[in-house]
Amino acid sequence: MIYKRSSALFSEAEKVIPGGVNSPVRAFKGVGGTPIFVKEAKGAYLYDEDGNRLIDYINSWGPMILGHAHKPVVDAVIEKAQKGTSFGMPTEIETKIAELAVSMVPNIDKIRFVNSGTEACMSAVRLARGFTGKDKVIKFAGCYHGHSDSFLIQAGSGASTFGTPNSPGVTQGTAKDTLLANYNDIDNVQTLIKANKNEIACIIIEPVAGNMGCIPPKEGFLESLREVCDANDILLIFDEVMTGFRLSKGGAQELYRIKADIVCFGKVIGGGLPVGAFASRNEIMNHLAPLGPVYQAGTLSGNPLAMAAGLAMLNELNNDSGIFMRLEDKTAYLHNGISSVLKANKIVHTINRVGSMISVHFDEGAVTNFDTAAKGNNDTFKKFFHGLLNEGVYIAPSAFETWFITDALTYQDLDFTIEAIDKVAKTL
Ligand code: PMP
Repeated sequence: MIYKRSSALFSEAEKVIPGGVNSPVRAFKGVGGTPIFVKEAKGAYLYDEDGNRLIDYINSWGPMILGHAHKPVVDAVIEKAQKGTSFGMPTEIETKIAELAVSMVPNIDKIRFVNSGTEACMSAVRLARGFTGKDKVIKFAGCYHGHSDSFLIQAGSGASTFGTPNSPGVTQGTAKDTLLANYNDIDNVQTLIKANKNEIACIIIEPVAGNMGCIPPKEGFLESLREVCDANDILLIFDEVMTGFRLSKGGAQELYRIKADIVCFGKVIGGGLPVGAFASRNEIMNHLAPLGPVYQAGTLSGNPLAMAAGLAMLNELNNDSGIFMRLEDKTAYLHNGISSVLKANKIVHTINRVGSMISVHFDEGAVTNFDTAAKGNNDTFKKFFHGLLNEGVYIAPSAFETWFITDALTYQDLDFTIEAIDKVAKTL
């Protein structure tokens, strides 16, 4: 494939944007080479500036669960845009999407919309601190909750790709309130709680981790977390920015039948526009300004275009009783296909999957936490990534990311992808 125009555009971008990108993983630093500039996308395909067509397994890192430029979402945005793009005043559509979200997700009475997953998680933790009157937070190594200061401690996703899981600029004062635990290790959590008695406001977790590849919770792990939170007056925050409206209508809470105290959303809930949200029961949400003392705000929060895209997306998911099963079936088909061609080519690997989140790790042991995810062979991953790109298949340019399957993918696309992986595996 030719990437002449993408390369030229990247050189221009580098002059005026740090690293040529507005979010680090896009720069291909983890895999080498020049990032691809996308011109447009439709359904399961990206079309780049050089005229190449790529099957997309990133899908804007999750939001495009029904494929790119999905008509009901696009139509809703166009219709709204003609009536004004921002008012900073209440609009009816905010209540409509809030009502729908509250009806789809278990255990929530109220939801507040923000502009990104980062804002959602940052605000959720502030609310947990304000509600409990305690300061400390437990997070898990390799989980990513956005780029706000408290979370850039052993963070996954781009932070891991760039080897800077602890970012300069985060003060010692902030870092000392974030305690780190190993994913899937309840004993480790118990030890931290004992050592910080009555100081922990909340535990925040990706109920299925998606930022160190895809890592499912071990059986009983989320249940145990719920129990230790209850026993110690700690709020349990599920960061469902990836899993929300993807693993089921009600996200991971519904899938695993675990009640979280606060839930964070992003990605799918905005239909591809900049949206995040956090939600909880009345008792907790009523602590937020203007009802309560915990401050949180946003000039563009509840923006009409973003709400229109999000509402159209949630309506599509809510009204399609087969969607989550179709996604599951397609992803399982891909999982089996990849597994058999990698085995046939004697490539050491582990595949993790929950619903329509899947990741391929080039190591043979079980991948259950950040340490085991980091053991994967990155040289093999780089070759795998570039080989697939050459075949017209676009996966995330980092071994620490999850693939997001979209319903727009056909079984033909999946077969094409499995054949491409077979070809690439022969070169690894
Ligand atoms: N939480 C999780 C689980 C995420 O995956 C992400 C982003 N990938 C975020 C929070 C932050 O969201 P955003 O990039 O929209 O700020």
